[in-house]
Amino acid sequence: AIAAVIHPDEAVKFGERLNHSFVTGELFSSRYRLRRADGVYRWMEGRAEPLRDQSGAIVQWYAVALDVDDEMRAQEALRDRERELSHLVNMVPAHIRRLTPKGEPTFFNKRLLDFFGLNDLAQLDKPDMSRLAATIQTLIHPEDAARLLETARHSFATGEPYSMKYRMRHADGAYRWMDVRGEPVRDQSGAIMQWYAISIDIDGEVRAQEELRLAQERLARTSQAAGLAELSASIAHEVNQPLSAIVANSSACHRWLSAEPPNLERAKITAERIIRDANSAAEVVSRIRALFRQSVEPRNRTTLGSIIAEALNLMAEEAARRRVRMDVDVESGLPLVALDRVHIQQVLVNLIRNGMDAMDSIADDRVLGVRARGMGDVVQTEISDRGAGVAFPDKIFEPFITTKANGMGMGLAICRSIVEAHGGRLWVETNKPQGATFIFTLPVEAKAAA
Ligand code: ADP
Repeated sequence: AIAAVIHPDEAVKFGERLNHSFVTGELFSSRYRLRRADGVYRWMEGRAEPLRDQSGAIVQWYAVALDVDDEMRAQEALRDRERELSHLVNMVPAHIRRLTPKGEPTFFNKRLLDFFGLNDLAQLDKPDMSRLAATIQTLIHPEDAARLLETARHSFATGEPYSMKYRMRHADGAYRWMDVRGEPVRDQSGAIMQWYAISIDIDGEVRAQEELRLAQERLARTSQAAGLAELSASIAHEVNQPLSAIVANSSACHRWLSAEPPNLERAKITAERIIRDANSAAEVVSRIRALFRQSVEPRNRTTLGSIIAEALNLMAEEAARRRVRMDVDVESGLPLVALDRVHIQQVLVNLIRNGMDAMDSIADDRVLGVRARGMGDVVQTEISDRGAGVAFPDKIFEPFITTKANGMGMGLAICRSIVEAHGGRLWVETNKPQGATFIFTLPVEAKAAA
C-alpha cells in the first residue's frame, strides 16, 4: 500500500516511521504526499495513535490524515516572496534603514551594514545612549553631526520628511558624502508607525564639483596674474629702451657742455636724440592706452537693471555656496545709460565678490544688498555688505593694495577706471551698524552722449 500511494520521495521514511511506531507503540506523525485517484499527489499531515487494553497491550491503531496541500503551497509561496523581498531590499543600489517614530534605528539593509562594516545593528549600541545618538556619534562626520541631529530632531518631532546631505564613515575609515531622505509611514489614524530612509552615495559627484570649482578659481586667478605680468613686462621692456638711451645721451650732453671749450654742435645733436627718445617713450605709453581703448566695445544704450540681473545670475551659485543671501532692490523704469556691458558687469561682479569676501568672517546673516535707483541725471548703484568694513577707504582704490592672501589689489582700481571712463564716480561709505557700501553713478543717456 505504501509503495502504491505514498510519493516515492517520502515512502521509505514513511515506512520506517510507521514500523517504529508499531514496534514501540509511540505516536506516529509525518508529512507526506499521497496519491489521489487522478494520479495527483497532495501533501498530508498524518497521525496515528494506539488504543490499549487494560493490560496495556495495543488492541488497535487509529489514524487520521489531513489534507494540508493548500496550506503547504501558501507557505512555500510566502517563503519565496519573503526571500525575494529581502533580496530586493538588500540588493537595491541604495542604503535603506527603518527607524522607530522617535528615530531609533531598527533595521539597516545589508548594503548599509556592509558600508559601515557591521554584522548586526546591535553592535552600535552603547551604554547610556540612544542608538540614534550612538550612530551619529560614531558614524557621521563630526562637522555634520550637529546639523544632522537638529534636522532629525525637527523631523521626528513634527513628522516632516527630511532630506539632507552629510558624510558617513565607511568601514575603511574614510568619510563619503551621502544624499539622505527619510519619510514616515503612518497608520490609519495618522500616527507615525515608523520612518524609512534611504541614502545614496554622491561622494564622486560632490568631489568632482568641488574640484571643478577650484580649478575654475585657479584658472581665473592665474590667467589674471599671467595677463598682468605679461603686460607689465612688455611695458617695462618698451619703455626701458628709450629711457636708458635718454640717460646715456643726457650724460653725453652734459660732457659736451662741460668740455673746455663746450662743444655746442655735439651737445645739440645729443639733445636732439634725447627729444627723439623721450617722444618714442611717450608714444609707447599712448600706444598702450590706445590698445586698451580699442578693446572697449561700442557702448550701447541699456537699462542697468538687465545688467544687474545678469551679474546676479552669474553670482547666484557662488552666493548659495558661500551662504550669502542677495537682497535686490532695483527701481523699475530706470532711464537708459550708454555703457559697455561687459565692463559694467565686471564692476558689479567685482564689488559683489568683494562684499562676499568681506562677509567670510561673519558666521551667519550674510546679506548682500544690491540697490539701483535714478537720482536726477545719474543712475546710482549701491552694493552693501555686513562685513567688517573698510580699514583704509582712501587707499583701497589704488592698484596693488590688498589685504587678502590671494588678492591682486587690482579689482577696485579697475572698477574705478571703468566707472570714470563712463563719466561716473565710484566711492565707498561705511554702513551702520557694520559693513561697507560701494556706490557708483553712471550718467543717464543725454549727458553721456554729450
Ligand atoms: P582684492 O580683492 O584682490 O584684494 P580689490 O582692489 O578688489 O582687490 O580690493 C582691495 C582691498 O579693499 C581688499 O583687499 C580689501 O581689503 C578692501 N575691500 C574691498 N572691498 C571690501 C569690502 N566690501 N569690505 C571691506 N573691505 C573691502
